[in-house]
Order: sequence, then structure tokens, then C-alpha cells
Amino acid sequence: MSIEMEEKKELFFSVEAGNSLPAASEAARATVAGWLRAPRASRAELFARADAVRRARMGDAVPLRGIIEFSNRCASDCAYCGIRRSNRALRRYTMPPDEILDVARRMAGWGQMTVVLQSGETPSREGDRELGELIRRIKRETPLAVTLSVGNRPRDVYAYWRECGMDRYLLRFETADPELYRRLHEGGDLEERLECLRTLRALGVQVGSGFMIGLPGETHEALADNILLCRKLDLDMIGVGPFIPNPETPMADARNAWADDPEMFFVALAALRLACPDAHIPATTAYDAVFPGEGRDLALRRGANVFMPNSTPGKYRRDYQLYPNKPCVDEDAGQCSACVLLRLKAIGREPAAGPGHSLKTRGARGEK
Ligand code: SAH
Repeated sequence: MSIEMEEKKELFFSVEAGNSLPAASEAARATVAGWLRAPRASRAELFARADAVRRARMGDAVPLRGIIEFSNRCASDCAYCGIRRSNRALRRYTMPPDEILDVARRMAGWGQMTVVLQSGETPSREGDRELGELIRRIKRETPLAVTLSVGNRPRDVYAYWRECGMDRYLLRFETADPELYRRLHEGGDLEERLECLRTLRALGVQVGSGFMIGLPGETHEALADNILLCRKLDLDMIGVGPFIPNPETPMADARNAWADDPEMFFVALAALRLACPDAHIPATTAYDAVFPGEGRDLALRRGANVFMPNSTPGKYRRDYQLYPNKPCVDEDAGQCSACVLLRLKAIGREPAAGPGHSLKTRGARGEK
């Protein structure tokens, strides 16, 4: 056996033994870091493994989650984010509930069986109640599953939204390094965010989290820690994407840690699929920002199984640029809905018929 073949056999041994990582955390870390360090010549093999695990566990049907970025108002000042409080270079907007409902009513016709409502973080009693009412109306008037992504909130607010019919929640932990988390989030506490995820889970909400790939200084081990935190949290959905420095933020001059080797964004995704075989993993928009026109398609062939078409009305899109080079800012929801179907067809996949609930809760729901 050549040295290279031996290396490959060694590299993927734990995958062949049933996708199980070693239980001991140091050994798991070394295994995942080993996948991330795979020599370039072995990457095609890693991608093929991730694709095979994705097909075996999640199938070929791609759940479509239409995202409506319904407000860019934000009270937080996250160092990396384009809609942070201190950014004056954008027009602040909040979509009226009727306009949101209007889009939601059209989504099933586009094959989008989940609506993801995302915004900045603007805690207020009035706004929370309005959002709850909107969830109720969407659940009453459409067949859609409802996902919210509006940041850290107290338990009673999550519980109220759950009562209104919220099915899922997305809240990325961004980085598993508590010190880095603090520096990026105005002194914020990673543990507090993880507590939000635990609260949501206890309320019976399907929980999604994830991280940015390549925050400055990221090592293979730090990236492995992010992946292993996803595994530890036993997430239903995991959203990851490259960190893209935004010129309107204090991180304008920061460099992505993998800027010289952007294929690492897919290596991370493939390793994530191997470590978390049963999670829904979206091909996130940021992949298209780094690899225009093909990033998300490549992601779907290297571990991801979900697509999140942008269903925000065109007139708001320029003001929801979390990072530069976000695709489709000149398009509208209808255009994105048609485009995604073509993209899926071109890679031999099809939109899922159902809402694509978590594999972990399907049994409880009596669904297949
Ligand atoms: N306010 C909501 C939604 C945040 S925006 C919340 O806190 O959950 C959604 C995600 O965009 C963030 O979680 C972050 O991971 C990502 N994001 C923000 N700025 C980014 C940047 N410059 N590069 C890459 N991803 C970014």
C-alpha cells in the first residue's frame, strides 16, 4: 500500500466504522482536526464520503426554507455583522405584518414548505406580541412550518411564540471559543446563548445553531471544536458559512483565516456532515458570496441537504447585507423561487414535498 493510501485509510477509519466518533473528547477532536487537515489530494474523497452520508441519512429531496428578512433594526452591535446598531450606512426597515403574510401565502406554491422569519434583535413587548400574532396567522392560513431567527430572548417569550405555533428556532453560537465570543459580542456570554438553545429544546422547539467558518485566528483545532459543539448540542439543524469581512464594520480589515484556501469552507462542511450525520444542514447564502453562482450547489454536493431561497421582497434586500457580495440583491422572491428549482435540477436533486422536520422529532409527530 502506498503511503498516501495508508493515510486515507487512517483518515476515514472512524467513518467506515459507522460514522461514530471516539467518545473521548480529545480523541474526537484529533479525528475531526485530521479530516480538516486532509491533504488536498484527499479532499475529493472526503467530499464523496460526506455526500454519501448525506444521501443515506437525509435522502435526495431538498427541503426548501424560504427566508424573509423582515427587519434590519438591531439593538446589538456584533463586530462582524452588517446590520449592527452602529452601522449608519443603511436604511432601517421593518416589514408590515400584512406584507410578510402576503409572501408567506405564496410560498407553498413555490415548493417552500417552511418560512424562516429573520431579523436583527429588537426586544420589545409590543414587537414580541406582534410577532406571536403573525405566527398564529401564518399557521392558520398556510400549511407552512414556521422558523424564527431573532436572537437571544427570555424563556417566557420563547414559550409564548411556541404557544402561537412556532416550530423551529435558529440561533447560531457563532464560535465555541468563549473569549472570542465575548470580544465579538460587546462582552456577551457564550453560555447565555447556549442556555437559550437548551430552553428552546426543552419547550419542544426544533433547534438550529451553527458558526462562522474562518473567524480571524481560527486553527484546525478551533474549527474542530466548533463542529464538535454542534455534535454535543445534538442540533436538529446546523447552519455554517464563511466569515466575510464587512467594510461597514470594525472587522473591515480582518481576513478570513482560510482566505488563501477557500476550499476549506467545503472541507469544514463535509467534516460537519460526517460528525453530525442526522442534522439538516443548509447550503447557506454565504457560500454563493465566496463562490458566485455555484457555492450553494457545491455545498449541496459536499454534505448539505437543505436550500434556503431568499424570499425577502426585492426593495428591502440592499438593506439586509450582513456581508458584502450577497447574491440576488437585485432580485425578487418569485425570481429566487424559480432559480432554485433550476439549480436543483441541474445537480439531479428535487425539492422535498413536505416541511422537512427534524429527523429526531419525526417519530413523535408520526411522520416519515
Ligand atoms: N439577529 C439574528 C440573525 C443574525 S444574522 C440572530 O442573532 O440570530 C444571521 C447570521 O449571519 C449570523 O448568525 C451570523 O452567523 C451570520 N453573519 C453575520 N455577519 C456575517 C459576516 N460578516 N460574514 C458571514 N456571516 C455573517
